[in-house]
Amino acid sequence: MDSRLSGLIEKLGTRHSLSRDEYAELLRLRDGDSARELASRAVELRQQIYGKRVFIRGLIELSNICKNDCLYCGIRRSNRSCRRYRLSPDQIIDCADEGYTLGFRTFVLQGGEDAFFTDEVLCSIISELKKRHPDCAVTLSLGERSRESYALLRKAGADRYLLRHETADRAHYEKLHPADMSFDNRLRCLNDLKELGYQVGCGFMVGSPYQTEAHIAADLKFIEEFKPEMCGIGPFIPHRDSPFRDCPAGSAELTCYLLSIIRLIHPPVLLPATTALGTIDPCGREKGILSGANVVMPNLSPADVRSKYELYNNKISSGEESAQHVSQLSRRMRSIGYELAADRGDFSGVSA
Ligand code: SAH
Repeated sequence: MDSRLSGLIEKLGTRHSLSRDEYAELLRLRDGDSARELASRAVELRQQIYGKRVFIRGLIELSNICKNDCLYCGIRRSNRSCRRYRLSPDQIIDCADEGYTLGFRTFVLQGGEDAFFTDEVLCSIISELKKRHPDCAVTLSLGERSRESYALLRKAGADRYLLRHETADRAHYEKLHPADMSFDNRLRCLNDLKELGYQVGCGFMVGSPYQTEAHIAADLKFIEEFKPEMCGIGPFIPHRDSPFRDCPAGSAELTCYLLSIIRLIHPPVLLPATTALGTIDPCGREKGILSGANVVMPNLSPADVRSKYELYNNKISSGEESAQHVSQLSRRMRSIGYELAADRGDFSGVSA
């Protein structure tokens, strides 16, 4: 391997930190050897903290109604072809009950920014979930809300919140979002969530339109400094009805390379092998785990709405992607030497 490259990997492995320019170089110089070296170090570090355990989260996509108009997203408000749906609070509780029976101990409520889900509605869903399943964690992924709202949801029992920063570069953020959304508000939300005691997840898309290696380097620096408990990254995949319909998809290879780097930056981070990674590569999930990821999030939404939560073309929602097929997923994980964990799978604060 190039000696510059091996020097960077050694430095990242020991100090868990590089400069922005060094991150950019690690990306620019990447080759098969550096990918293998990073993955092997990432897997070893994760082994020390979490062993061979892969955590499962039951994903409930509660609504595809959204007031936002993110240019990359299939459920953006100006997509007239999107068939909209919203689950009722009872349907959401039923999904979680079914998930509990299937062995899930974390429920992730994700959705568009749908005004139906007021603080009052959400608080009653969260407290009901916690009452029925006190041994479970409730994770929210419902976009940008006020600090007061986040505080109320936390008080009602929400444990974790996923809100990808999407990109750590302001100018890039503005190319991916309409003028009525702001980079500052995204960061304000992440900081509020952290201060309110949530376990927080940030993240970004790999290969999003206009993204450069310098942007990804800024994302890595952001992750290094923010130290999120979770971090979601997956390839950008175009949606046929979005302004980015003709943009190329991100690659599984670069996504896996970044999963390894993120594991080395922040060893205890909970890192999912995402649905988008499983969508662009049939072995994406396994490749993600073998690169340092340790979370999978099968879909618990009712079967008839699953295909409607279409953030990008051909989003997978059957087979192992479905919570009902968790035993199939479990077999696939065992075939690569891992086992699905049956507990909540909280962040393990021990920093290496
Ligand atoms: N409304 C919530 C949930 C968004 S969906 C929120 O704002 O957080 C979850 C993630 O899917 C987004 O944060 C985005 O990074 C990702 N996503 C959206 N469109 C995508 C696309 N076309 N390709 C890949 N990932 C996409």
